[in-house]
Amino acid sequence: MKFNDYPIDSLMYITSRPDIVFTRGEGSWLYDNNGKRYLDFIQGWAVNCLGHCNPGMIQALETQARKLINPSPAFYNEPMTRLANLLTANSCFQKVFFANSGAEANEGAIKLARKWGRKFKNGAYEIITFDHSFHGRTIATMSASGKPGWDTLYAPQVPGFPKADLNDIASVEALINDKTVAVMLEPIQGEGGVIPATAEFMKQLRELTRKHNLLLIVDEVQTGCGRAGSLFAYQLSGIEPDIMTLGKGIGGGVPLAALLAREEIAVFEAGDQGGTYNGNPLMTAVGLSVIEQLIAPGFLEGVRARGEYLKAGLLKISADYGMNGERGEGLLRALLMNHDKGNQIVERARELQPDGVLLNAARPNLIRFMPALNVTNAEIDLALGALRTVLDSLA
Ligand code: PMP
Repeated sequence: MKFNDYPIDSLMYITSRPDIVFTRGEGSWLYDNNGKRYLDFIQGWAVNCLGHCNPGMIQALETQARKLINPSPAFYNEPMTRLANLLTANSCFQKVFFANSGAEANEGAIKLARKWGRKFKNGAYEIITFDHSFHGRTIATMSASGKPGWDTLYAPQVPGFPKADLNDIASVEALINDKTVAVMLEPIQGEGGVIPATAEFMKQLRELTRKHNLLLIVDEVQTGCGRAGSLFAYQLSGIEPDIMTLGKGIGGGVPLAALLAREEIAVFEAGDQGGTYNGNPLMTAVGLSVIEQLIAPGFLEGVRARGEYLKAGLLKISADYGMNGERGEGLLRALLMNHDKGNQIVERARELQPDGVLLNAARPNLIRFMPALNVTNAEIDLALGALRTVLDSLA
């Protein structure tokens, strides 16, 4: 089939999008409308944690679709209760609210913190966030984000999100005042360039927030659900936050997100938060299948092992090409380059024949890797081999 069989002119999308229409996916592979195959190391921005068209997810979707697709959001449903129980049983949180996107879950976290501040902290509302953080594309989550340029793009911003420097506890402390209600961060900044908060910083943040009676909110939309090699990335540092948001991986590709909170923090009352599709059984049934597969014996150990394998391959490339090493956790990693040709590399890798490779340059000087969590070592070898081919072609 030719590209013209899928006219794209009526889509309101950014113009830099390449003229590719995907028609099919399986595991780590995507197929376009010309039949070309791509090894997918982006996986919908870390969304498809079990790869494309995972059989367990399909089964859950099919079975649920025959039972119940959407009752009124004013009532509970079976998969939403089961998934909430599974999430609380495997985390330090007792309450779950389901949303449809990471940004919406973060909106919920911001609202919950502000409500808590109104109730227990004299109306305190400021949430300290971090430079280069990414929390979504709604107006409030853009205001919370530390992405350069976003402070003016849709000005005026929502007030109340002062920015500190990641891994610098003094910069956080300096921003605390009687209006402060919470600190919010990604355990690993994803869009900012795969920059981990150190375990020591996470501990310092927990101590500081306890000392000042502030909430600690972790945005695990990108790092959660196995991506960092543990079910949730906060668990790597041994601390317990007050609020966590999930997105992307929890739905494995379907629009599902969640807001989790400790019991005492969960102060929403009827009418405070909600939406037509929140907790939709079709999505929560898929989420249930995803989380059950992630916590199956051996799966997360496998993610860590494959993460180490990817890390070793990246370090070898770094050594061979005189680059600056790599960083990340589990299967969220970045190769740190000694030049700014990231976007060119992404393009050339996609254009390789016969198979393309989908990579991402979160910043021009690094390549980000977020393959399916069940990627094979052979597929990692293929992707790294392709990267070497592209790097050679640039020389
Ligand atoms: N938080 C983080 C850490 C993210 O990486 C993203 C998406 N890149 C979001 C929030 C927003 O999620 P969504 O696109 O589902 O709104």
